[in-house]
Amino acid sequence: MAAPPDLPPPEELLRRADEMLKHFEGGRWPSHVSELRRTGYPLHVYGVGLVARKSPWGPSTAPVQFVNTGVLARVAREWVPGRGEEVHFRVFHTPGKFLPTSFLKKLAELSKKLGVGLLEVVGQTGALVINLRKEHAEQLVDELRAIGTDVGGSGDAIRALNACVGPALCEFALFDTLAWYAEFHRDKRVNDAIATPGFPYKFKIKLSGCPMDCARANRADFGLIGIWEGAPEVDQEALRRKVEAGEVDPRRLEERCPSRAITWDEKSGTLIINGERCRKSMNCIRSAFPAIRPGRKKKVAVLVGGGVKGRFGPKLGWFLTMLDPDKPRDAVGLAFKVIEPWDREGVPKDRLGDYILKVGFTEFLRRLGMEASGRHVANPTYIPYKVLQKEERDKFLKLSEELGR
Ligand code: SF4
Repeated sequence: MAAPPDLPPPEELLRRADEMLKHFEGGRWPSHVSELRRTGYPLHVYGVGLVARKSPWGPSTAPVQFVNTGVLARVAREWVPGRGEEVHFRVFHTPGKFLPTSFLKKLAELSKKLGVGLLEVVGQTGALVINLRKEHAEQLVDELRAIGTDVGGSGDAIRALNACVGPALCEFALFDTLAWYAEFHRDKRVNDAIATPGFPYKFKIKLSGCPMDCARANRADFGLIGIWEGAPEVDQEALRRKVEAGEVDPRRLEERCPSRAITWDEKSGTLIINGERCRKSMNCIRSAFPAIRPGRKKKVAVLVGGGVKGRFGPKLGWFLTMLDPDKPRDAVGLAFKVIEPWDREGVPKDRLGDYILKVGFTEFLRRLGMEASGRHVANPTYIPYKVLQKEERDKFLKLSEELGR
């Protein structure tokens, strides 16, 4: 990338960069610059970028033997005085992000010994990143493996899985997200696909214990969300007590139910929820738990094709099927079944959702050996991308017409 116009001479640029960095150390609040000064991070590159108002980084590589994903490198652009580089490893995190202090301490020690002394927790998945020194990369991989983790989760591969804390900490969990996460990692195919890129694009697997979707599984290529069939359960006696105590306003529950599934009978003090209408928004449950709680017939909904980045823009996942909460193996098998046609026919940089848009969801189901059913589009308002603006919907409509020609 060419140097930005009107860039001052190198000494002046560095002086202004330093001034800018000091500015971020002022005030009474914690400063990320002061923290970075305690590490070996090439801070001047950051400062120069701030002055130039342009990213000072360009792409680079750091080949590490027997490691195909999870290594990211960048180098300062030629207009940055003193240059500098940054190499980091994405380190596997744990289901629900439960990280023992002993494990974090070991990571911190390794980061000081073989890196610049900087650990990051990044992205919505909370991935752990360790900034290293290039010459120690091979050794760091060995040491990370010795403490029970590994490097991976970048490029056109299965990315580091993401699961909410599930039943370990959350009363709403409808299936054991942590056990399911572990089940995925027990499968050699999953670990191989994390370690070696080979798909058209990245593939994200996320698990949320309930429709609140803390792991954002509705935006994953393969999302698993705990759900129940029918209406939430209502303990009428407990609910009446909450209403009398002023903790719950039943009229407000009625109003705020997005599917208008709730009716409050004032006379008898009874709340009725129509299970067929209920869209599992969790609003009534959150407002009146535990008097209102999820139904007992638990399932795991599978959504496919979601994602923020992709050729045709952000998408929520399409509902595919329901799984039994006690059978996590079925999810692993299904993930690879879903991957198969996309991997075979998708063109580079097509996310699964892009591929589904191109072939059509019904055809995609056929390729999976599944039949389209009323559950897939029970009601036009259930179409996953209905949340898009009208302008975006029109764009998709135009695109599908073009693809159909
Ligand atoms: S997704 Fe549901 S089960 Fe998981 S942590 Fe969030 S609220 Fe709890």
